[in-house]
Amino acid sequence: MMSESKFSTRDNRLPSASRPTNRRKFLLLAVLIALALLASACAEARTELGESASRLMRLRAWFGDPSAHPEWLVNAGERCGDAAMIMPTSGYIGVGWGDSFRPGHNHSGYDIFTPERANNITPIVAARDGYLTRESTWRSAVIIRHPNFPRPGDVLWTYYTHMASADGETSFIAPEFPSGTHEVFVKAGTLLGYQGNWSGVANAPTGVHLHFSVVKSTGSGYANETIIENTFDPGPFLGIETGPDGFLVCAQTSSQENPEP
Ligand SMILES: [Zn+2]
Repeated sequence: MMSESKFSTRDNRLPSASRPTNRRKFLLLAVLIALALLASACAEARTELGESASRLMRLRAWFGDPSAHPEWLVNAGERCGDAAMIMPTSGYIGVGWGDSFRPGHNHSGYDIFTPERANNITPIVAARDGYLTRESTWRSAVIIRHPNFPRPGDVLWTYYTHMASADGETSFIAPEFPSGTHEVFVKAGTLLGYQGNWSGVANAPTGVHLHFSVVKSTGSGYANETIIENTFDPGPFLGIETGPDGFLVCAQTSSQENPEP
């Protein structure tokens, strides 16, 4: 009985011996593939973090002495090549579309930082002809609707914010556009207001800048621009691209627009 059972056990093991080996090989292969995928995901995350980190370091350098970096500047009203929109303000594009400084969040527009290092000095202009709205609760922002753009039947919006003092008490939006303004026609280059550092939270300034975003339409209005999926990269609209050293620069020779017709 004993020997028979032993034998039969051994016997049972024999034909199946090759199966665990195959299974082991398969498992090993699966683990190797998973590790390879993980490694490439990590490399990608490192590259993204690296880009965002180097942008942060440059931003620190910019805050330290903007006059040391005139080549980083874009200028309000300039048109890069034959871009569809003109530059909405002057300064350094310190934070780009998609930049991430905390997990799960990607920046939905461009942050353009004034060289003046002070509130209420650097003008912000309409990037393209359209219809301006400032909701009754907005102290620092306006949004412009651009119908039939980029193609006939399409609607896109451009959003401009941070136009208020750090405590949120003083708005820097042009007096022509009081809160509650609805669908007022503005030409490209129209003065909308001045850069400020209202962050949405009182006395938590983020540095004087314009946050500019190109926002998708919901069909009946504008989408929530804080979600990156509701926005487009402003680069192609402004003729901005990432230069070899990671700076966001004019893709082609720019020309200064005369805002008046
Ligand atoms: Zn921003």
